[in-house]
Amino acid sequence: MTKEYDYLIIGAGLYGSICAYELQKRGFSCLVIEKRDHVGGNMYCEKINDINVHKYGAHIFHTNDERIWKYINNFVTFNNYRHSVIANYRNELYNLPFNMNTFSRLWNVVSPSEAHKIIETQRIYNTSKIKNLEEHALQTVGKDIYEKLIKGYTMKQWGRLPSQLPASILKRIPLKFTFNNDYFNDTFQGIPNGGYNKLFDQLLANVEVKLATDFFKEKIQLIALAKKVIYTGPIDAFYNFEYGHLDYRSLDFKHNILDCNNYQGTSVVNYTDINVPYTRIIEHKHFEFSNAPSTVITYEFPKTFEKNSEPYYPINDERNNRLYKQYEQKSKNDKNIIFGGRLAEYKYYDMHQIIAAALVKIKEETLKI
Ligand code: FAD
Repeated sequence: MTKEYDYLIIGAGLYGSICAYELQKRGFSCLVIEKRDHVGGNMYCEKINDINVHKYGAHIFHTNDERIWKYINNFVTFNNYRHSVIANYRNELYNLPFNMNTFSRLWNVVSPSEAHKIIETQRIYNTSKIKNLEEHALQTVGKDIYEKLIKGYTMKQWGRLPSQLPASILKRIPLKFTFNNDYFNDTFQGIPNGGYNKLFDQLLANVEVKLATDFFKEKIQLIALAKKVIYTGPIDAFYNFEYGHLDYRSLDFKHNILDCNNYQGTSVVNYTDINVPYTRIIEHKHFEFSNAPSTVITYEFPKTFEKNSEPYYPINDERNNRLYKQYEQKSKNDKNIIFGGRLAEYKYYDMHQIIAAALVKIKEETLKI
């Protein structure tokens, strides 16, 4: 039977869309299917009152890789937004990541040497090997920062006590002894002018896309359409959870339109007290320096991942990594199916890493043909 398409691509997120663009550019025919009613995956923005609202959480593009920066600039230009975050702990405001502004607010210090001295007295050393996130944080940043700015936020984010979480989640806790509030150190940063949807419009301009189409509802018919498949959904679902379910952390987003032009003065405020049920409030207009008369804010509530909730963050602990390896092993026998992206590889990827991974995959794939 002749196949209608060279590739069926499941998922119109960044991974699937880069693959589709690169394949069609090289002359391959592709059909992209997407279960949501829009493309863009978690980078999708909805325009509300002339503001691009990041519907699935704040997305800031950042990379040190000039090649990736040049690549994405073929499709969109970027504004000069640089990300910085405020933490609100019981109405005390602190700058993140931890830097001289944070230290001076916490302890009234005015110099790096004073800050170093206080942190040294605050650090709690455990002479045995660090076993969990709490020990790691207490040893790196000390008691005050841990109690006010890490503990409650982490408990809400992961739904577990920091002493039950692997230290690796907080592997890098940067302490900066300068008055620099930049959240990312990367050379290239910004938000696409006009929002992320423009990127997907460009990537998918010459590709056939079917929205509101769940692969699992029409699996046999869809697979029959193409010679090869690129799958970017959850890998455990692809194999009907044969070895068990992979765990994720999920999120609920509550969007509010407010009749004021500036609610919190910045794009992201983290609420670090355990008694506040949400982890962050995002005020979207600040990403694009919008002068819109109203504003849109989003409360982000972490929650347990259940059957019909969206998988957001993989929980890469020992059990889940072992389970993923079983699925990965099985997937190697499916020679005509490529598994890629954050859900199929069960891995937290930033956007620039997704682009890099998709480009490598398509290069390998098309060299084989
Ligand atoms: P996705 O965007 O999830 O795309 C997968 C697509 O497949 C989805 O559209 C899904 O609906 C579809 N799909 C799944 N199953 C099926 C099915 N059965 N049938 C049809 N379609 C299906 N990265 C940064 O660089 N900077 C940031 O600031 C940043 N912030 C983030 C904030 C949050 C809250 C989250 C969750 C992620 C953030 N990221 C950030 C990471 C970024 O979202 C990812 O790198 C990127 O979106 C991953 O693209 P993807 O294509 O792998 O996955």
